[in-house]
Amino acid sequence: MRARRLSWAAGEILRFRLNAHCEKMSPNVGACMKYPILFVNSRVPVWLSKFAPIEVYAVSFGPWVWCRGICTTRMWQHETIHYRQQLELLFVGQWLLYGLFWLLMFAKYRDGRAAYWNNPFEREAYTHELDPHYLEDRKLYAWRRYIFDNCHEP
Ligand SMILES: [Zn+2]
Repeated sequence: MRARRLSWAAGEILRFRLNAHCEKMSPNVGACMKYPILFVNSRVPVWLSKFAPIEVYAVSFGPWVWCRGICTTRMWQHETIHYRQQLELLFVGQWLLYGLFWLLMFAKYRDGRAAYWNNPFEREAYTHELDPHYLEDRKLYAWRRYIFDNCHEP
C-alpha cells in the first residue's frame, strides 16, 4: 500500500472550481491570483499539528492551501483570507508579522492557544470565514482592525 500512502501524503492537487473557471474564461491573470491552489487529503496539516498549539485542519502558505481530508467551504474561506493577507504583504511580510504577533500575544497571555486566537490575522479569518460576500468586499489590510480587538476563542 506504499503507492496509496504516498499519494495521500502528497495530497491530491485540485484547483478550486472558481479558480479553474477563472483560468478558462479570463485572460486576466490578476483575477486568478485572488484564489490559492488547493490540496486536499494532505498530510501537511497532520505534520504541523505535532508542533502547533492547536490541532491543524488546514494551512495556507504562499500560493497553496493544504487541507486534511476534504476542504469545507468554511475552511476554504478561512485559508483564502490568509492567502489575501499574504498577497497584500508580499508573503514574507505576513509571515514575519504573523510570528511577531504570535510572540506578542504569547507574552501577554502566556498560552500558545490564546496567542493563536488573538493573532489579528486569525481574528480576521475566524470573524469572516462564514460570510459568503467577504472576499469580494474585503478591504486591503483589513486584519489591522483586530490588532487591539482581542478575545479568548473565536
Ligand atoms: Zn487561520
